Amino acid sequence: MTTTNTAVSDAPVTLSGSSPEVDYDAIGIGAGFAGLALIHYLRGAGLSVRIFDRATDVGGTWSWNRYPGAATDSESYYYCLTFSKALLQEWSWSQRYPGRAETQSYMRFVADKCDMWPHIQLNTEIVEARYLNDRGIWQITTGDGKTFTCKYFISGMGMISEPVIPTIAGMDRFQGPIFHSSRWPAEGLDYAGKRVGIIGAGATTVQMVPVVAETAANVTVFQRTPNYILPAMQQPMTPEWEKEIKDNYDAIVAKCRNHVFGMAFDSPVGRNAVDTPPEERQKIFEENWTGSFRWVFETFDDLLVNPEANKMAGEFITSKMKERVNDPELAELLAPKFEDYPLFAKRPPLDHGYMEAFNRDNVHLVDIKHREPLVEITETGVRTTERHLEFDIIVLATGFKAYTGALEAFPIHGASGQTLREKWQTASESIMGVCVADFPNMFVVTGPQAPFANLPTSIEQNVIWITRCIEKMEREGFAIFKPRLEAERAWTAQTADIHGQTLMANGDKVNSWMMGANREDKAPRVLIYFGGAGAYYDALDLSADSGFPELEFEKVAS
Ligand code: NAP
Repeated sequence: MTTTNTAVSDAPVTLSGSSPEVDYDAIGIGAGFAGLALIHYLRGAGLSVRIFDRATDVGGTWSWNRYPGAATDSESYYYCLTFSKALLQEWSWSQRYPGRAETQSYMRFVADKCDMWPHIQLNTEIVEARYLNDRGIWQITTGDGKTFTCKYFISGMGMISEPVIPTIAGMDRFQGPIFHSSRWPAEGLDYAGKRVGIIGAGATTVQMVPVVAETAANVTVFQRTPNYILPAMQQPMTPEWEKEIKDNYDAIVAKCRNHVFGMAFDSPVGRNAVDTPPEERQKIFEENWTGSFRWVFETFDDLLVNPEANKMAGEFITSKMKERVNDPELAELLAPKFEDYPLFAKRPPLDHGYMEAFNRDNVHLVDIKHREPLVEITETGVRTTERHLEFDIIVLATGFKAYTGALEAFPIHGASGQTLREKWQTASESIMGVCVADFPNMFVVTGPQAPFANLPTSIEQNVIWITRCIEKMEREGFAIFKPRLEAERAWTAQTADIHGQTLMANGDKVNSWMMGANREDKAPRVLIYFGGAGAYYDALDLSADSGFPELEFEKVAS
């Protein structure tokens, strides 16, 4: 099969004499995009690979997030793996933003076509991972007490996978189904004719409400903070559009690789909002109002860095939001203000009819921040300071412990015995989001201090770096790599410095998961490299081309 990414060596690596006795050369956790990419690239490098996942199927995020309306916010044709030109041509997307099931089908298709299933072990939870100093290998323990050893241990558990379960008084009293949005019952849940309460008003709720409202008796959203909501503008994939995409896939893949957000967008555009006369600016904002995050990147280059430009963009978005809601008072409640927080200090959701849903008689908004704070959950519903609302189902769409949550959910012990959770108590430091000091021979796919970008692009770039590192290890006969503490400190300082220059630094004031500020158990911290995904991928390539100066290589376990 022809591969589009040539950075990784074509020739299988002969595993060197330094390889210890292990069950697998590499063990990864997570059978989403990361797991599939790991199988492709590491198997190509001649390694034996095992991917574990506690889910019942491949899919990662798309296996878990079964709430109605779940769909990608990236456009389909670049929300995919790009290692095979043949697969890019063969698979057909049905629409601009595929739903959950379609994306999961795509991942099954990749696993089928590339004969990946023998490497994947589903229904298997990992409960501990431990680096064994004396042998220089990792030992992984499953929920049923089995242990497996490997030379390389790799997390592909996802950036946004570990749920935030809020502490709300009385939560255990509710008599009906109550669950986190990412744990929507796999067997389905009949909500037709039911009263549904949704706590939280983020991207998940924005996708869920229009669909649930169609058949539920009523839907009530408990909103703390409103969002800047961009329109998705869903479209079917026409044969003409598909042909255009498939004729240009090399260019699309290259665009993603070089873009600040890892998406196939045409930016930078070479103009700033603050330097553009108001009429012309408005015209550009209007002409580009065609759906997706494109609008943020393809209008002006200063929207996320200049407060004045950011305010203009935010006001344009909220004016568009308000136009679609009949009740002006309600429209006001749904729209954030620059004074509250700038655009992109929280990740903006994409909308498939959320605003219009509030024009229905059966959809209600409760402002729990300013008007009637939430007091408790009762046997039959939710009590605010003003009233009691009865529900049959309560959904906690309360977000995720982003970037580090999955890595802290079970003990992962490094060389000193400390866990990642312990190491990351006050700061979540890493080397480029892929390695962590004190955790030899361990890689993380899109860990803390990696960029926030189109995830399949970042995942593939991370996996290419990991594969090149392993190829070096095996070619040159190394037993161990140790991430250097000084490299971790340097990357952390650079990430913090860039973060401080952006408007996203306001995220700690509005509970943004982008700073881990939505967690009750930890203080906010810098979690994201905001220097641009393209620049970050360049940094990964430079590191690999320079022989991985961030790592110390050793021939024997010590
Ligand atoms: P989120 O954006 O973090 O939103 C969580 C919501 O729950 C917020 O409105 C938050 O209010 C509220 N909340 C949290 N704790 C609460 C409490 N104790 N009481 C009341 N309200 C509470 O989570 P999300 O909507 O699941 O989205 C998270 C991320 O997942 C997205 O930003 C996106 O990156 C990803 N996602 C992607 C897609 C996609 O690409 N298709 C779809 C869905 C989600 P505050 O804002 O006031 O904290």
